[in-house]
Amino acid sequence: MLTIALTGGIGSGKSTVADRFTRLGVPILDADVLAHALTAPGEPTLEEIRAVFGPGVIQPDGALDRAALRRIVFDDPAARRRLEAILHPRIRVRMLAWLGEVRAPYAILVIPLLFETGQSDLADRILVVDLPEDEQVRRVQSRSGLDAAEIHRILATQASRAERLAGGDDRIDNSGDLAALEAQVKRLHHLYLDLAQPVG
Ligand code: ATP
Repeated sequence: MLTIALTGGIGSGKSTVADRFTRLGVPILDADVLAHALTAPGEPTLEEIRAVFGPGVIQPDGALDRAALRRIVFDDPAARRRLEAILHPRIRVRMLAWLGEVRAPYAILVIPLLFETGQSDLADRILVVDLPEDEQVRRVQSRSGLDAAEIHRILATQASRAERLAGGDDRIDNSGDLAALEAQVKRLHHLYLDLAQPVG
């Protein structure tokens, strides 16, 4: 089965693109959703995170305090690597298990930090959702109310637009409206169906 990795920077439109592929019947698995499932109360992964980062990252109700964990790893690359070393191998195992079960011409893995975490080898092709950085900032601001400085700090921890475009096979330009995005999704859907079932 053909496997596509869908990636892009914060607020670039990954979820919106994934939703349009879902509507076309394409099976999709999102690494962020897996990360949430793995860190649900009672999960062994959450226990490991508690052991490494301390009780301060667990809320009184037993759930992961994501904001507290984010604060710890944001300015500390070594801590971020420790967290990634806990999460990423497990996410990878679950993705591979899912790919082994899915029956479809092609499937999509949404991996926001594909390049940052060296997971490009998981897929046959890489699809980059692309947006100029100033528009990323505008869309994240209108969605979340984060201030521009905070968004720029997040952008600085992610691969640059140029790095992503250099590493991708396909690109969706999401600087237009939703109709323009949908048209590009449909074109790629047909490309992927063709690639999945080569003539002859
Ligand atoms: P994150 O990295 O934060 O998970 P994302 O890459 O999944 O974000 P989306 O949530 O799909 O991005 O989009 C970010 C915001 O921009 C959302 O509020 C979404 O509704 C909006 N958006 C997406 N595409 C467009 C578009 N073409 N025109 C206008 N707004 C858009």
